Amino acid sequence: MWIGIKYFKNVEHIKLLTMGKFISEVIKRKRFISRRQLAKETLTLVGGLIVIPEVFMKKKEAGINQDIPIERNKTFAFQIGKKTFLNDDFLLESKTAEILFHEHAEALPIIDYHCHLPPNEISSNKQFQNLTQIWLAGDHYKMRAMRANGVEEKYITGNADDYSKFLKWAETVPYTLRNPLFHWTHLELKRYFGIDTILNSTTAKEVYEIASSLLQTEKFRTQNLIKDKNVEIVCTTDDPIDKLQYHQEIISQGYPVKVLPAWRPDKALAVENPENFNKYVDNLSEVSDVNISGYQDLIDALTRRQDFFKSMGCKLSDHGLESFLFEEYSDLEINRIFSKIRSHRKLSFQEMQKFKTALLLQLCEMNFQFGWTQQFHVGALRNNNTRMFKSLGPDKGFDSMGDFEFAKSMAKFLDRLEQKQKLTKTIVYNLNPRDNDLIVTMLGNFNDGVIPGKMQYGSAWWFLDQKDGIEKQLNALSNHGLLGRFIGMLTDSRSFLSYPRHEYFRRILCNLIANDVEKGELPTDLKWLGKIIEDICYYNAKSYLNFQ
Ligand SMILES: [Zn+2]
Repeated sequence: MWIGIKYFKNVEHIKLLTMGKFISEVIKRKRFISRRQLAKETLTLVGGLIVIPEVFMKKKEAGINQDIPIERNKTFAFQIGKKTFLNDDFLLESKTAEILFHEHAEALPIIDYHCHLPPNEISSNKQFQNLTQIWLAGDHYKMRAMRANGVEEKYITGNADDYSKFLKWAETVPYTLRNPLFHWTHLELKRYFGIDTILNSTTAKEVYEIASSLLQTEKFRTQNLIKDKNVEIVCTTDDPIDKLQYHQEIISQGYPVKVLPAWRPDKALAVENPENFNKYVDNLSEVSDVNISGYQDLIDALTRRQDFFKSMGCKLSDHGLESFLFEEYSDLEINRIFSKIRSHRKLSFQEMQKFKTALLLQLCEMNFQFGWTQQFHVGALRNNNTRMFKSLGPDKGFDSMGDFEFAKSMAKFLDRLEQKQKLTKTIVYNLNPRDNDLIVTMLGNFNDGVIPGKMQYGSAWWFLDQKDGIEKQLNALSNHGLLGRFIGMLTDSRSFLSYPRHEYFRRILCNLIANDVEKGELPTDLKWLGKIIEDICYYNAKSYLNFQ
């Protein structure tokens, strides 16, 4: 006779397979089971363990589901809560968490208000040849993991063939356990390709073939990859000189997902290298049709571009900074500094600080005038490996967290804007978790009592975009600010297969709140908590970013 545990989510969902017949047993709570029932029932619950009575043990000779450890004594028991990997209740540790996620978070649309998807690959509705092309190319998280696993560069960024590269990645995956890559990898295989297999060197070929053949179908062209994940709005990241022709094309195609540009003028601040800076200013001059001879011309040109971005539906700016900086300056000084660099002379460190402070403050005032939300991504120390930077260029996995000191400069910077009453809605993302409390308390100084959640402490970013980092961000925000006003998750990704990261975030959020309920630290008012979760996952971003 067979007895096997088919599957169970918890004690309320136990299904037994016995005598070849499927018997569904639902055991509600320990207290509802009498001694008599206990003798009769196949299962009961004792002290957190599910116990199968001895009478059944005698009949189980033919074997029991091999997943379950069996002790050959009077009873055998196993810990409740054992889950299969990546099941429906992945990351949800309680019934409350399951309810919050499945009933309030799971089905909501996605607003991906900051990402790096290439607009041309959306407008061309690109089809990828194979899994390596869509999944590995350009993914610096995977590049780092492969290098750490001793994989030669030719299989990472080099000229090895696509399958060989994939195989090296598959060989690396088992070593990524407990790194977010392990979860992302299998979540993406499952959600996009329906593949449940754990990726490793043995399964690589099968996974590659199934996924690569699916990639040849319509469903796997970029527009469907986004749309089918219930994405409502995508904000890309674009330079002021970008003509946004791909955004135009997407609109004219009538694509139902809104793909909007976002303004990232970092190159206008990159005065370290006069040659590159001047080339950039010349390009800006051409695109904006403004002859840029003085600093004010630069501002005029940028304003024109900003007008154009606004006409294309842009609602956000984004600024990548090592650190907030603040150096006092006069207008005269800035004009002189600009003339100096335009005549191809190198600026001193202090001149660079002054120029960057002045221009970034100016750009922030412009963000305010346009009614945009401004984002600051702060704290990355980039291109740390000179040899690799020289051979591969930026964004190839040689960046890490910095330890910049910026509390005072951040305060002065935001305060200067606030004094002029030109501080627009602001989101700050940090990269070093030691700064979590600093950032969120600093932002709290500048809420204005008008716009709910005006100063946002942004979602866990890059190295912090994993379970521990997400929980730490949510905890810091809860401790010092208003979690209920948080505008939630974004992918910040270059990959078309990253949308399950929203699901990942939502599960962690629901679980965190549910754990408080389980501990009696929050009331069991799931209607209210469910509403808060819906807001964080979708509605807050929608209203905060004016996406009505
Ligand atoms: Zn980004």
